[in-house]
Amino acid sequence: MKRQYSNVDYKSIPLFKDVKEEDWNNWKWQMRNAIRDVPSLEKVLPLSDEEHEHLAKTLKKFKMAITPYYAALMSKEDVNCPVRKMAVPILQELHIDESDLSDPLHEDVDSPVPGLTHRYPDRALLLVTHECSMYCRHCTRRRIVGETDEDMARGHLEKAFEYIAKTPEIRDIVISGGDPLILSDSRIDYILTELRKIDHVEIIRIGSRMPVVLPQRITDDLCDIIKKHHPVYVNTHFNHPKEITEEARLACEKLANAGVQMGNQSVLLKGINDCSNIMKAMMHDLLRIRVKPYYIYQCDLSEGISHFRTTISKGIEIIENLRGHTTGMAVPTFVVDAPGGGGKIPVMPDYLISQTEKRVVLRNYEGMITSYTQPSDYQGHKASDCTFCSDESLVAKDGVAKLLNEGGTIIPQSLRRESRTNGNGKH
Ligand SMILES: *Cc1c(COP(=O)(O)O)cnc(C)c1O
Ligand code: SF4
Repeated sequence: MKRQYSNVDYKSIPLFKDVKEEDWNNWKWQMRNAIRDVPSLEKVLPLSDEEHEHLAKTLKKFKMAITPYYAALMSKEDVNCPVRKMAVPILQELHIDESDLSDPLHEDVDSPVPGLTHRYPDRALLLVTHECSMYCRHCTRRRIVGETDEDMARGHLEKAFEYIAKTPEIRDIVISGGDPLILSDSRIDYILTELRKIDHVEIIRIGSRMPVVLPQRITDDLCDIIKKHHPVYVNTHFNHPKEITEEARLACEKLANAGVQMGNQSVLLKGINDCSNIMKAMMHDLLRIRVKPYYIYQCDLSEGISHFRTTISKGIEIIENLRGHTTGMAVPTFVVDAPGGGGKIPVMPDYLISQTEKRVVLRNYEGMITSYTQPSDYQGHKASDCTFCSDESLVAKDGVAKLLNEGGTIIPQSLRRESRTNGNGKH
Protein backbone atom coordinates (compact mmCIF):
# COMPACT_ATOMS: atom_id res chain seq x y z
CA MET A 1 0.00 0.00 0.00
CA LYS A 2 1.39 3.34 -1.06
CA ARG A 3 1.89 5.53 1.97
CA GLN A 4 1.03 9.22 1.81
CA TYR A 5 3.67 11.51 3.25
CA SER A 6 2.56 14.46 5.26
CA ASN A 7 4.10 17.54 6.75
CA VAL A 8 4.89 17.43 10.42
CA ASP A 9 2.01 18.93 12.38
CA TYR A 10 3.85 21.29 14.70
CA LYS A 11 0.95 23.68 15.20
CA SER A 12 -0.69 21.08 17.44
CA ILE A 13 2.18 21.32 19.93
CA PRO A 14 1.63 24.17 22.42
CA LEU A 15 5.35 25.06 22.51
CA PHE A 16 5.48 25.57 18.75
CA LYS A 17 1.95 26.67 17.89
CA ASP A 18 2.92 30.32 17.50
CA VAL A 19 6.10 29.72 15.52
CA LYS A 20 6.04 31.54 12.20
CA GLU A 21 6.29 29.29 9.18
CA GLU A 22 9.39 31.04 7.92
CA ASP A 23 11.09 30.40 11.27
CA TRP A 24 10.02 26.76 11.30
CA ASN A 25 11.49 26.30 7.82
CA ASN A 26 14.73 28.03 8.77
CA TRP A 27 17.39 25.55 9.86
CA LYS A 28 19.20 28.09 11.95
CA TRP A 29 16.03 28.83 13.90
CA GLN A 30 15.62 25.06 14.37
CA MET A 31 19.19 24.79 15.68
CA ARG A 32 18.80 27.72 18.04
CA ASN A 33 15.60 26.26 19.41
CA ALA A 34 16.75 22.68 19.78
CA ILE A 35 15.62 20.98 22.98
CA ARG A 36 18.71 20.60 25.14
CA ASP A 37 17.41 20.41 28.70
CA VAL A 38 14.66 18.83 30.77
CA PRO A 39 12.49 21.96 31.20
CA SER A 40 12.30 22.41 27.41
CA LEU A 41 11.62 18.72 26.84
CA GLU A 42 8.81 18.89 29.35
CA LYS A 43 7.08 21.44 27.18
CA VAL A 44 6.69 18.87 24.39
CA LEU A 45 6.39 15.61 26.33
CA PRO A 46 4.66 14.93 29.62
CA LEU A 47 7.32 13.50 31.96
CA SER A 48 6.75 11.48 35.10
CA ASP A 49 8.76 12.26 38.24
CA GLU A 50 10.76 9.12 37.60
CA GLU A 51 11.53 10.09 34.00
CA HIS A 52 12.50 13.49 35.25
CA GLU A 53 15.02 12.05 37.64
CA HIS A 54 16.39 9.54 35.10
CA LEU A 55 16.84 12.24 32.49
CA ALA A 56 18.71 14.47 34.87
CA LYS A 57 21.11 11.64 35.69
CA THR A 58 21.68 10.60 32.09
CA LEU A 59 22.26 14.16 30.91
CA LYS A 60 25.20 14.42 33.28
CA LYS A 61 27.03 11.97 31.06
CA PHE A 62 25.52 12.35 27.57
CA LYS A 63 24.25 15.38 25.70
CA MET A 64 20.73 15.76 24.44
CA ALA A 65 19.64 17.83 21.47
CA ILE A 66 16.38 17.43 19.61
CA THR A 67 15.42 19.75 16.78
CA PRO A 68 11.89 21.14 17.06
CA TYR A 69 11.12 19.42 13.75
CA TYR A 70 12.17 16.00 15.04
CA ALA A 71 10.51 16.65 18.40
CA ALA A 72 7.25 17.32 16.60
CA LEU A 73 7.48 13.81 15.12
CA MET A 74 7.56 12.21 18.57
CA SER A 75 4.42 10.70 20.00
CA LYS A 76 3.32 12.36 23.23
CA GLU A 77 1.36 9.34 24.44
CA ASP A 78 3.36 6.37 23.26
CA VAL A 79 6.60 5.83 25.17
CA ASN A 80 7.51 3.21 22.56
CA CYS A 81 7.40 5.72 19.70
CA PRO A 82 10.49 4.96 17.59
CA VAL A 83 11.33 8.62 17.05
CA ARG A 84 11.08 9.28 20.76
CA LYS A 85 13.33 6.31 21.56
CA MET A 86 15.99 7.60 19.18
CA ALA A 87 15.90 11.12 20.66
CA VAL A 88 15.01 11.02 24.36
CA PRO A 89 17.66 9.77 26.81
CA ILE A 90 16.82 6.96 29.22
CA LEU A 91 18.59 5.60 32.29
CA GLN A 92 19.86 2.46 30.53
CA GLU A 93 22.42 4.64 28.72
CA LEU A 94 24.37 4.74 31.95
CA HIS A 95 24.58 0.95 32.03
CA ILE A 96 27.94 -0.28 30.81
CA ASP A 97 27.54 -3.81 29.56
CA GLU A 98 30.41 -6.26 29.90
CA SER A 99 30.61 -6.46 26.10
CA ASP A 100 30.78 -2.65 25.69
CA LEU A 101 33.89 -0.98 24.29
CA SER A 102 34.74 2.71 24.23
CA ASP A 103 36.10 2.77 20.67
CA PRO A 104 34.83 -0.55 19.27
CA LEU A 105 35.75 0.27 15.69
CA HIS A 106 39.28 1.46 16.52
CA GLU A 107 38.60 4.73 14.75
CA ASP A 108 41.05 6.47 17.05
CA VAL A 109 43.65 3.70 16.71
CA ASP A 110 43.60 3.61 12.89
CA SER A 111 44.10 7.34 12.71
CA PRO A 112 47.29 8.72 11.12
CA VAL A 113 46.25 12.32 11.90
CA PRO A 114 43.49 13.45 14.29
CA GLY A 115 40.05 13.28 12.71
CA LEU A 116 41.10 10.98 9.87
CA THR A 117 40.65 7.19 9.90
CA HIS A 118 42.52 5.41 7.13
CA ARG A 119 41.50 1.76 7.47
CA TYR A 120 40.75 0.56 3.98
CA PRO A 121 43.37 0.68 1.24
CA ASP A 122 41.72 3.22 -1.07
CA ARG A 123 39.39 5.32 1.06
CA ALA A 124 39.41 7.29 4.28
CA LEU A 125 36.96 8.64 6.81
CA LEU A 126 37.29 12.33 7.63
CA LEU A 127 35.55 13.57 10.78
CA VAL A 128 34.98 17.30 10.35
CA THR A 129 32.92 18.09 13.45
CA HIS A 130 31.80 16.49 16.71
CA GLU A 131 28.45 18.25 16.76
CA CYS A 132 25.02 17.22 15.51
CA SER A 133 21.63 18.92 15.36
CA MET A 134 20.03 15.91 17.07
CA TYR A 135 21.96 13.50 19.25
CA CYS A 136 20.87 9.96 18.43
CA ARG A 137 20.62 7.85 21.54
CA HIS A 138 22.11 4.93 19.61
CA CYS A 139 25.11 6.88 18.27
CA THR A 140 28.16 4.67 17.80
CA ARG A 141 30.55 7.64 18.14
CA ARG A 142 29.11 8.85 21.41
CA ARG A 143 32.60 8.80 22.92
CA ILE A 144 33.35 11.97 20.94
CA VAL A 145 30.07 13.26 19.58
CA GLY A 146 28.66 16.26 21.41
CA GLU A 147 32.02 17.57 22.55
CA THR A 148 32.95 21.08 21.66
CA ASP A 149 34.63 21.54 18.39
CA GLU A 150 37.84 23.37 19.15
CA ASP A 151 39.97 20.38 18.22
CA MET A 152 38.37 20.31 14.80
CA ALA A 153 39.75 23.74 14.13
CA ARG A 154 41.31 24.60 10.83
CA GLY A 155 44.79 23.36 11.76
CA HIS A 156 43.63 19.80 12.22
CA LEU A 157 41.69 19.74 9.01
CA GLU A 158 44.69 21.05 7.13
CA LYS A 159 46.80 18.20 8.49
CA ALA A 160 44.18 15.77 7.23
CA PHE A 161 44.22 17.41 3.78
CA GLU A 162 48.02 17.14 3.75
CA TYR A 163 47.88 13.46 4.64
CA ILE A 164 45.32 12.77 1.91
CA ALA A 165 47.36 14.76 -0.61
CA LYS A 166 50.49 12.73 0.07
CA THR A 167 48.63 9.40 0.03
CA PRO A 168 47.78 8.72 -3.60
CA GLU A 169 45.98 5.42 -2.84
CA ILE A 170 43.10 7.40 -1.32
CA ARG A 171 40.55 7.89 -4.08
CA ASP A 172 37.41 8.18 -1.92
CA ILE A 173 36.78 10.44 1.08
CA VAL A 174 33.87 9.84 3.44
CA ILE A 175 33.12 13.10 5.26
CA SER A 176 31.43 12.39 8.56
CA GLY A 177 31.37 13.52 12.19
CA GLY A 178 29.19 14.43 14.09
CA ASP A 179 27.10 15.76 11.28
CA PRO A 180 29.14 17.58 8.61
CA LEU A 181 26.09 19.52 7.41
CA ILE A 182 25.91 21.28 10.77
CA LEU A 183 28.82 23.39 9.49
CA SER A 184 28.17 26.65 7.69
CA ASP A 185 27.80 26.69 3.92
CA SER A 186 31.14 28.45 3.57
CA ARG A 187 32.96 25.90 5.72
CA ILE A 188 31.43 23.02 3.72
CA ASP A 189 32.48 24.77 0.51
CA TYR A 190 36.00 25.18 1.93
CA ILE A 191 36.29 21.47 2.81
CA LEU A 192 34.97 20.31 -0.55
CA THR A 193 37.18 22.80 -2.40
CA GLU A 194 40.30 21.66 -0.54
CA LEU A 195 39.50 18.00 -1.24
CA ARG A 196 38.85 18.73 -4.89
CA LYS A 197 42.30 20.31 -5.20
CA ILE A 198 43.73 16.83 -4.61
CA ASP A 199 43.91 15.18 -7.97
CA HIS A 200 43.65 11.56 -6.82
CA VAL A 201 40.44 12.12 -4.83
CA GLU A 202 37.90 10.72 -7.27
CA ILE A 203 34.73 10.71 -5.21
CA ILE A 204 33.51 12.46 -2.07
CA ARG A 205 30.80 11.09 0.17
CA ILE A 206 29.01 13.06 2.87
CA GLY A 207 27.35 11.18 5.74
CA SER A 208 24.60 13.30 7.27
CA ARG A 209 21.45 12.75 9.27
CA MET A 210 20.12 16.20 8.37
CA PRO A 211 17.56 14.93 5.81
CA VAL A 212 16.03 12.96 8.70
CA VAL A 213 16.32 15.21 11.73
CA LEU A 214 16.53 18.67 10.18
CA PRO A 215 15.47 18.51 6.50
CA GLN A 216 15.28 22.32 6.46
CA ARG A 217 19.10 22.26 6.34
CA ILE A 218 18.97 21.09 2.73
CA THR A 219 18.65 24.54 1.22
CA ASP A 220 19.05 25.62 -2.40
CA ASP A 221 22.29 27.36 -1.44
CA LEU A 222 23.72 24.17 0.05
CA CYS A 223 22.74 22.21 -3.06
CA ASP A 224 24.44 24.83 -5.25
CA ILE A 225 27.65 24.39 -3.25
CA ILE A 226 27.59 20.60 -3.40
CA LYS A 227 26.85 20.70 -7.12
CA LYS A 228 30.14 22.50 -7.78
CA HIS A 229 32.15 19.57 -6.44
CA HIS A 230 30.64 16.55 -8.14
CA PRO A 231 30.81 13.57 -8.00
CA VAL A 232 29.47 13.93 -4.45
CA TYR A 233 27.36 11.22 -2.81
CA VAL A 234 25.25 11.77 0.29
CA ASN A 235 24.46 8.90 2.63
CA THR A 236 21.80 9.58 5.19
CA HIS A 237 20.43 7.65 8.14
CA PHE A 238 16.71 6.85 8.18
CA ASN A 239 15.78 4.10 10.64
CA HIS A 240 11.99 4.03 10.55
CA PRO A 241 9.20 4.81 8.03
CA LYS A 242 7.80 7.37 10.47
CA GLU A 243 10.82 9.55 9.69
CA ILE A 244 9.92 9.75 6.02
CA THR A 245 7.79 12.88 5.97
CA GLU A 246 6.95 15.40 3.30
CA GLU A 247 9.80 17.59 4.58
CA ALA A 248 12.26 14.68 4.35
CA ARG A 249 11.04 13.88 0.85
CA LEU A 250 11.62 17.47 -0.26
CA ALA A 251 15.13 17.48 1.21
CA CYS A 252 16.14 14.23 -0.49
CA GLU A 253 14.60 15.27 -3.79
CA LYS A 254 16.42 18.57 -3.65
CA LEU A 255 19.74 16.78 -3.29
CA ALA A 256 18.82 14.28 -5.99
CA ASN A 257 17.87 17.13 -8.31
CA ALA A 258 21.29 18.66 -7.63
CA GLY A 259 22.76 15.48 -9.11
CA VAL A 260 23.58 13.84 -5.79
CA GLN A 261 23.22 10.07 -5.54
CA MET A 262 21.50 9.45 -2.23
CA GLY A 263 22.06 6.35 -0.11
CA ASN A 264 20.76 5.25 3.27
CA GLN A 265 22.63 3.61 6.14
CA SER A 266 20.31 2.43 8.88
CA VAL A 267 21.14 0.84 12.18
CA LEU A 268 19.30 -2.25 13.34
CA LEU A 269 17.75 -1.22 16.67
CA LYS A 270 15.79 -3.21 19.22
CA GLY A 271 12.24 -1.96 19.59
CA ILE A 272 12.62 0.46 16.68
CA ASN A 273 13.16 -1.39 13.42
CA ASP A 274 13.91 -5.00 14.37
CA CYS A 275 11.05 -6.15 12.16
CA SER A 276 11.20 -7.28 8.53
CA ASN A 277 7.98 -5.52 7.66
CA ILE A 278 8.96 -2.17 9.16
CA MET A 279 12.24 -2.44 7.25
CA LYS A 280 10.50 -3.39 4.01
CA ALA A 281 8.09 -0.46 4.28
CA MET A 282 11.02 1.87 4.92
CA MET A 283 13.04 0.57 1.96
CA HIS A 284 10.03 1.13 -0.31
CA ASP A 285 9.53 4.65 1.00
CA LEU A 286 13.23 5.40 0.57
CA LEU A 287 13.21 4.43 -3.10
CA ARG A 288 10.16 6.65 -3.60
CA ILE A 289 12.08 9.64 -2.25
CA ARG A 290 15.06 8.70 -4.48
CA VAL A 291 17.28 7.28 -1.75
CA LYS A 292 18.94 3.90 -2.43
CA PRO A 293 19.19 1.64 0.66
CA TYR A 294 22.92 0.99 1.11
CA TYR A 295 23.65 -0.60 4.48
CA ILE A 296 21.89 -1.94 7.54
CA TYR A 297 24.41 -1.92 10.40
CA GLN A 298 24.42 -4.36 13.27
CA CYS A 299 24.37 -2.15 16.39
CA ASP A 300 27.98 -1.60 17.53
CA LEU A 301 29.48 -2.43 20.91
CA SER A 302 29.82 1.24 21.89
CA GLU A 303 29.22 2.08 25.55
CA GLY A 304 25.72 2.81 26.75
CA ILE A 305 23.76 1.47 23.78
CA SER A 306 23.41 -2.19 24.80
CA HIS A 307 19.66 -1.72 25.27
CA PHE A 308 19.38 -1.14 21.50
CA ARG A 309 21.23 -4.30 20.45
CA THR A 310 19.62 -7.22 18.67
CA THR A 311 21.15 -10.53 17.71
CA ILE A 312 22.94 -10.69 14.37
CA SER A 313 20.36 -13.34 13.41
CA LYS A 314 17.70 -10.63 13.34
CA GLY A 315 19.55 -8.87 10.53
CA ILE A 316 19.86 -12.10 8.56
CA GLU A 317 16.13 -12.67 8.99
CA ILE A 318 15.43 -9.18 7.63
CA ILE A 319 17.52 -9.80 4.52
CA GLU A 320 15.78 -13.18 4.06
CA ASN A 321 12.48 -11.31 4.05
CA LEU A 322 13.65 -8.72 1.55
CA ARG A 323 15.81 -10.46 -1.07
CA GLY A 324 13.61 -11.80 -3.87
CA HIS A 325 10.45 -10.76 -2.08
CA THR A 326 10.85 -7.16 -3.18
CA THR A 327 12.75 -4.87 -5.56
CA GLY A 328 16.43 -5.77 -5.57
CA MET A 329 17.30 -2.10 -5.24
CA ALA A 330 15.38 -2.05 -1.96
CA VAL A 331 17.74 -4.61 -0.43
CA PRO A 332 20.72 -3.09 1.40
CA THR A 333 23.76 -5.05 2.56
CA PHE A 334 23.60 -6.08 6.21
CA VAL A 335 27.01 -5.51 7.83
CA VAL A 336 28.68 -6.06 11.15
CA ASP A 337 31.38 -3.45 11.75
CA ALA A 338 34.06 -5.66 13.26
CA PRO A 339 35.06 -4.80 16.83
CA GLY A 340 38.77 -4.05 16.80
CA GLY A 341 38.73 -2.15 13.53
CA GLY A 342 38.30 -4.97 11.04
CA GLY A 343 35.82 -2.94 9.05
CA LYS A 344 32.44 -3.92 7.71
CA ILE A 345 31.69 -7.61 7.34
CA PRO A 346 28.65 -8.46 5.21
CA VAL A 347 26.37 -11.14 6.59
CA MET A 348 23.45 -12.72 4.77
CA PRO A 349 21.42 -15.88 4.49
CA ASP A 350 23.14 -18.80 2.72
CA TYR A 351 21.96 -19.20 -0.83
CA LEU A 352 24.79 -21.55 -1.84
CA ILE A 353 23.89 -25.10 -0.84
CA SER A 354 26.74 -27.16 -2.27
CA GLN A 355 29.19 -27.41 -5.15
CA THR A 356 31.43 -29.67 -7.17
CA GLU A 357 33.79 -28.60 -9.89
CA LYS A 358 30.97 -29.31 -12.31
CA ARG A 359 27.87 -27.96 -10.56
CA VAL A 360 26.75 -25.45 -8.00
CA VAL A 361 23.52 -26.06 -6.09
CA LEU A 362 21.67 -22.93 -5.06
CA ARG A 363 18.39 -22.08 -3.43
CA ASN A 364 16.22 -19.08 -4.19
CA TYR A 365 14.08 -16.97 -1.87
CA GLU A 366 11.07 -19.28 -2.42
CA GLY A 367 12.95 -22.37 -1.35
CA MET A 368 13.37 -23.70 -4.89
CA ILE A 369 16.63 -25.62 -5.13
CA THR A 370 18.35 -25.40 -8.46
CA SER A 371 21.65 -26.38 -10.03
CA TYR A 372 23.96 -24.43 -12.27
CA THR A 373 26.29 -26.43 -14.49
CA GLN A 374 29.65 -24.71 -14.69
CA PRO A 375 31.53 -24.52 -17.99
CA SER A 376 34.08 -27.35 -18.21
CA ASP A 377 36.37 -25.45 -20.57
CA TYR A 378 36.66 -22.21 -18.62
CA GLN A 379 40.28 -21.14 -18.93
CA GLY A 380 40.13 -18.17 -16.65
CA HIS A 381 41.06 -14.59 -17.29
CA LYS A 382 44.54 -13.96 -18.67
CA ALA A 383 46.13 -11.26 -16.58
CA SER A 384 49.01 -10.93 -19.04
CA ASP A 385 46.61 -9.75 -21.77
CA CYS A 386 44.73 -7.34 -19.52
CA THR A 387 45.74 -3.73 -19.17
CA PHE A 388 43.74 -3.42 -15.93
CA CYS A 389 45.66 -6.30 -14.37
CA SER A 390 48.92 -4.46 -14.96
CA ASP A 391 47.57 -1.43 -13.06
CA GLU A 392 49.07 -1.99 -9.59
CA SER A 393 46.57 0.36 -7.94
CA LEU A 394 43.73 -2.01 -8.84
CA VAL A 395 45.29 -5.22 -7.58
CA ALA A 396 44.16 -6.36 -4.10
CA LYS A 397 47.09 -6.38 -1.71
CA ASP A 398 45.42 -7.85 1.35
CA GLY A 399 43.22 -10.59 2.57
CA VAL A 400 41.75 -13.65 0.99
CA ALA A 401 41.76 -11.85 -2.37
CA LYS A 402 45.55 -11.67 -2.13
CA LEU A 403 45.78 -15.37 -1.27
CA LEU A 404 43.65 -16.16 -4.31
CA ASN A 405 45.85 -14.02 -6.52
CA GLU A 406 49.27 -14.95 -5.19
CA GLY A 407 48.86 -17.90 -2.84
CA GLY A 408 50.41 -17.77 0.63
CA THR A 409 49.16 -17.85 4.17
CA ILE A 410 47.66 -15.43 6.65
CA ILE A 411 48.75 -16.27 10.19
CA PRO A 412 46.92 -14.91 13.24
CA GLN A 413 49.11 -12.76 15.49
CA SER A 414 48.65 -14.89 18.57
CA LEU A 415 48.80 -18.67 18.33
CA ARG A 416 49.56 -20.97 21.23
CA ARG A 417 51.84 -23.01 19.04
CA GLU A 418 54.02 -19.94 18.44
CA SER A 419 55.22 -20.25 22.05
CA ARG A 420 56.38 -23.78 21.31
CA THR A 421 58.79 -22.88 18.48
CA ASN A 422 62.46 -23.71 18.96
CA GLY A 423 63.54 -20.12 18.51
CA ASN A 424 64.65 -20.24 14.90
CA GLY A 425 61.14 -20.13 13.55
CA LYS A 426 60.88 -23.87 13.00
CA HIS A 427 58.33 -25.96 14.88
C1 LIG B 1 32.50 2.64 6.66
C2 LIG B 1 33.82 3.16 6.49
C3 LIG B 1 34.31 3.50 5.23
C4 LIG B 1 33.50 3.36 3.97
O1 LIG B 1 33.15 2.01 3.76
P1 LIG B 1 32.38 1.57 2.46
O2 LIG B 1 32.10 0.11 2.67
O3 LIG B 1 33.29 1.86 1.32
O4 LIG B 1 31.13 2.38 2.39
C5 LIG B 1 35.60 3.97 5.16
N1 LIG B 1 36.38 4.09 6.25
C6 LIG B 1 35.95 3.75 7.48
C7 LIG B 1 36.86 3.88 8.64
C8 LIG B 1 34.65 3.28 7.64
O5 LIG B 1 34.21 2.95 8.85
S1 SF4 C 1 23.72 12.11 13.56
FE1 SF4 C 1 25.24 10.46 13.44
S2 SF4 C 1 27.01 11.24 14.59
FE2 SF4 C 1 25.24 12.50 15.15
S3 SF4 C 1 24.39 11.56 16.96
FE3 SF4 C 1 23.29 10.68 15.22
S4 SF4 C 1 24.42 8.81 14.72
FE4 SF4 C 1 25.77 10.05 16.03
